[in-house]
Amino acid sequence: MTPLVHEIAGLAIPELAQQFGTPLYVYDARTILERIGHLAAFDVVRYAQKACSNIAILDLVRKNNVLVDAVSAGEIHRAMAAGYKPGFNDPPEIVYTADIFDHQTLDMVVELGVPVNCGSPDMISQYGQRAPGNSITLRINPGFGHGHSQKTNTGGEQSKHGIWHEQIEDCIERANEHGLTIAGLHMHIGSGTDMEHLSQVSSAMEQAALVVGSSITSISAGGGLPTPYRDGDDLVDTAAYYEQWDATRGRLAKEFGHHVSLEIEPGRYLAAESGYLVAEVRAVKQMGGNRYYLLDAGFNNLARPIMYGSYHPMAVCPANGDTERAHQQVVVGGPLCESGDIFTQEDGGFVSSRSLPEAHVGDYVVIGCAGAYGHTMASNYNSKPLTAEVLISDGSPHLIRERQSLDDLIRHERIPG
Ligand SMILES: *Cc1c(COP(=O)(O)O)cnc(C)c1O
Repeated sequence: MTPLVHEIAGLAIPELAQQFGTPLYVYDARTILERIGHLAAFDVVRYAQKACSNIAILDLVRKNNVLVDAVSAGEIHRAMAAGYKPGFNDPPEIVYTADIFDHQTLDMVVELGVPVNCGSPDMISQYGQRAPGNSITLRINPGFGHGHSQKTNTGGEQSKHGIWHEQIEDCIERANEHGLTIAGLHMHIGSGTDMEHLSQVSSAMEQAALVVGSSITSISAGGGLPTPYRDGDDLVDTAAYYEQWDATRGRLAKEFGHHVSLEIEPGRYLAAESGYLVAEVRAVKQMGGNRYYLLDAGFNNLARPIMYGSYHPMAVCPANGDTERAHQQVVVGGPLCESGDIFTQEDGGFVSSRSLPEAHVGDYVVIGCAGAYGHTMASNYNSKPLTAEVLISDGSPHLIRERQSLDDLIRHERIPG
């Protein structure tokens, strides 16, 4: 994104803002389809919908041969609303992956027949008691991890995720007690991939699969494919990524004497770059040495900066159509009554500044790479309604979520008496 923008996917930003209001999430369908195309070599691309789970996005990826992962009853419900069917097909359209079952979700996966990817030994036993004889997959924690922050590292003993790699035998016993077949293994150990790290993961997968044996018919490389948030970040080399996993799969297939399907489970990679948060500048103020742009969007809309110190590209869209504006060093923040409501912050909460074009009240700030873990992590904090979401496809904007009303905020609340 250049620092001065006027359009998203060919549509004028001020017109989008006037038609749908701000703050507004805008997604470009083309980017999602492009990213899906990069992963076509894998047997199965399974979208980790928690990145961006609007049913219109699920419908879009479903129509492009992408299957889906669900981490809650709500996500199973969404998947079905978008046309995915539960059941033990090969490959299954919906898989439930988690470290626990709450009661509602256990009932749901048993009644609907949604295959489960178990991240704890207790899940195996609880599922086996309710659905003996079914196939399951195991999410393995290989004992090491990776992640762009401590909060997103999903392997190693500091992570709560997955079945510890030294407990696979115990899990096989638990599965056998209920006649469950372990048909696949899964490793999702966090964002950020270098090839050396990847070879560590794939060889851990190989060792784990050899412990389980020839009941394994699929392996999943999980998600964690990085996306370029900063200028100069490269897109991951998906061909090299595939080759590494394909070699692992090939060795296992040879060992077992049958085909082993290779899945990948991206969230961020499919959704991040497609999404933009469009906000209006509502105040510009100088406070000592800092100049602030205060927007009508805050961490209630996009929580990644306050949660992880994440960097997002930003641009200014002049309401008057200016194609040139002098740059200045600014801090960009939101409307919330909380000092952490700053988009330009670093890990640890340190406020930093950014060189952006001069902006006035009524101009727009566009925050890029906001498609993944953007709206799905939004909240009603400060009693702010959730924003609308718009999907641009075939050159037209489609409203895919209405903005919440003020009545929506209190709809489920009751005054006793
Ligand atoms: C979140 C998640 C993913 C996706 O992670 P990304 O970093 O967004 O690719 C994949 N698999 C599981 C089980 C997850 O929980």
